[in-house]
Amino acid sequence: MLKPDDVVAIAVSGGKDSISLLHILTKIERNFPEARLCAVTVDEGIKGYRDEALKFAVKTCQKLDVEHKVISFKETYGYRLDELVDIIRRKGQKDLTPCSYCGVLRRRALNNIARKAGANKLATAHNLDDETQTILLNIIHGDALRIARVKPVLSAAHPKLIQRIKPFCEVPEREIALYAHLKKIQFQGIPCPYAQTALRNDIRNMLNKMEQKHAGTKFMILRSMERIRPALEAIGAEEKLQDCKLCGEPTIGEVCKPCQMLEKLGVL
Ligand SMILES: [Zn+2]
Repeated sequence: MLKPDDVVAIAVSGGKDSISLLHILTKIERNFPEARLCAVTVDEGIKGYRDEALKFAVKTCQKLDVEHKVISFKETYGYRLDELVDIIRRKGQKDLTPCSYCGVLRRRALNNIARKAGANKLATAHNLDDETQTILLNIIHGDALRIARVKPVLSAAHPKLIQRIKPFCEVPEREIALYAHLKKIQFQGIPCPYAQTALRNDIRNMLNKMEQKHAGTKFMILRSMERIRPALEAIGAEEKLQDCKLCGEPTIGEVCKPCQMLEKLGVL
């Protein structure tokens, strides 16, 4: 996942997982003089939520003496998420939720800021719970082939795409919470006001119940998927990336997802 001379951008939202990841990678990095770390945060523009979380991110980076870069939706796309949600609601769009817009736009912004920081790896704090939930979500949504993309090290199939790694993908959420508690780490605990994660919540509860009754369930789901993944990758069409004809960023089709979404809202 990591090499001694990597330049790693860590996606820090300000929640317990990403702040803990920042602590741990900073500690590891001290033993590798050729490696470099940098924290990156996406400010989506969510009043009363992201501005709070941002304070924790800034404070932790100062304390750990880590360089910190922030990129906002406003500077990247011209609109804060709050403004985009207003437009989504005015247009009465039912097919996509604020979360689907935010997820796509945030991933792009993260890649941009990591690239700007000169990173060759982008570490996110997805944990075992996130990963197993995503696997089951994909199955329930019928996106079985997308499970192949739930992996610890994502391939960087384009020079403009920074390779994403998930150092916490085998760490249960409860253990990260315990680490944060023991280290007296300060983080933001309130959920996003737009979170519409009904299905993910149901899956989370189900997995937690299963884990309690049958310890090891989450690991087994992850392990099973690891074994199936090569077969999934073999039947999935190879995705050839090209430059988006509107923004120049890497994409599978002619126009990238962020551009498609912004076009749909009439704000591109
Ligand atoms: Zn584009």
